[in-house]
Amino acid sequence: MKVLVLGAGVVGVSAAYYLQKDGHDVTVIDRQNGAGLETSFANGGQISASHAMPWAAPDVPRQLLKWLGRNDAPLLYRMRLDPQQWAWSLRFLANCTSAKAARNTVINLRLCLYSRALMPQIREDTGIQYDHLGRGILQIYRDPKELEAFAKQAAVLNELGCDNRVVTEAEVHELEPAYDSSPDKLAGAIFTPDDESGDAHLFSKNLAGYAASLGTEFRYGESVVSLNKDASKITSVTTDTGTIEADAVVMSLGSYSPLFLKPLGIKLPVYPTKGYSITVPTSGYNGTPTISLTDEDHKLVFTRLGQRMRVAGTAEFNGYDTEMNIGRVTSIRDVAQKLFPNAGDYSKAEFWTALRPLTPDGVPVIGGTKYDNLYLNTGHGTLGWTMCAGSGKITADLISGKTPEVDISDVGLERF
Ligand SMILES: Cc1cc2nc3c(=O)[nH]c(=O)nc-3n(C[C@H](O)[C@H](O)[C@H](O)COP(=O)(O)OP(=O)(O)OC[C@H]3O[C@@H](n4cnc5c(N)ncnc54)[C@H](O)[C@@H]3O)c2cc1C
Repeated sequence: MKVLVLGAGVVGVSAAYYLQKDGHDVTVIDRQNGAGLETSFANGGQISASHAMPWAAPDVPRQLLKWLGRNDAPLLYRMRLDPQQWAWSLRFLANCTSAKAARNTVINLRLCLYSRALMPQIREDTGIQYDHLGRGILQIYRDPKELEAFAKQAAVLNELGCDNRVVTEAEVHELEPAYDSSPDKLAGAIFTPDDESGDAHLFSKNLAGYAASLGTEFRYGESVVSLNKDASKITSVTTDTGTIEADAVVMSLGSYSPLFLKPLGIKLPVYPTKGYSITVPTSGYNGTPTISLTDEDHKLVFTRLGQRMRVAGTAEFNGYDTEMNIGRVTSIRDVAQKLFPNAGDYSKAEFWTALRPLTPDGVPVIGGTKYDNLYLNTGHGTLGWTMCAGSGKITADLISGKTPEVDISDVGLERF
């Protein structure tokens, strides 16, 4: 079957890899000059099943009110004259109940665990390198009450098959000696030993290279303009260089996916949510964290990537605006430098920003559409790197006529 994958982010490339393995004739289109150059470029690097909880959670409306108007808030909501933003926000708020958050966590966790379990096989099959670390994730708390509250959530994740352990401050220092030179007093942490980390851009680039060596065609520097249809299927895709026909089309254009689906009569509630990261060179420094960290107070993640440290976080709801807000990104650098002064050369920090493709319930959209040959694999929000292998394999299985290995009854577009 000739399959066209739209988007060479970590999600599209993973799907292309599995489609190629299934023996299809695969073509990937991306407007950038390589794979993983937009949202998959400099994310937090965490393969974090332990973070399956969606952002839409019961305490979020209260937090949003607290942060409203604060330019340095971890979550910044800029009200726009944009009905898409309002409709999405109402749906987001509707998901902020305990029952819905618990349900969405279960769905996400299933995908995260499935996806995480596929990563060793990809490494073995392809031999690709991407600064992978298999040392787990430490979720750090300073407030004992918060740790206690999250320990309850961790216990729920444990029951669902995600090994989480509450560890003391002394154990944090044993696991992560970088805290020895940190000024912080900690309450403790939640340690997820099976979580991983790595560079999503290197993964995308090298997996794309591997898929290309098996026959996948990557058409870089080419922009999708429209999807053309008849009554029941997508007949072709028009790009800025021509029109391509295919038997099946996979939509993996990240935050831009809804823009191309709307003319087809498909409403996909994905909203762009801006985040920031810094990447600091660490060569010659001895205080770089060696385990991937999530700092719950500062809402930041820290990940060692070879001779670099990535620090990422923050969310800004401001449409498709991709401007770098220097104040927000330098505050990430300042917090990181205060916490880990010997981690790296902060004067050489590289700044980055991108748009997470976020659904209101925090669950991606994977599966078919009202067009027989159009498949969605998008809307992965905060967990695209964590879920890319699983959602790629599910997409390939659906197109190849196989039954996916996990339950996908609640990840499709029908739920909206
Ligand atoms: C600050 C930050 C930290 C994060 N940390 C983590 C983390 O630690 N762990 C985790 O699991 N996830 C994390 N994420 C989320 C993760 O990065 C995303 O979910 C993931 O990158 C989405 O991948 P994608 O392939 O769907 O989108 P993208 O990577 O954006 O890929 C979409 C592709 O479509 C292409 N494209 C768009 N429009 C067109 C067009 N018209 N024509 C042709 N091509 C087009 C783009 O060039 C792009 O390559 C983070 C995100 C951010 C912003």
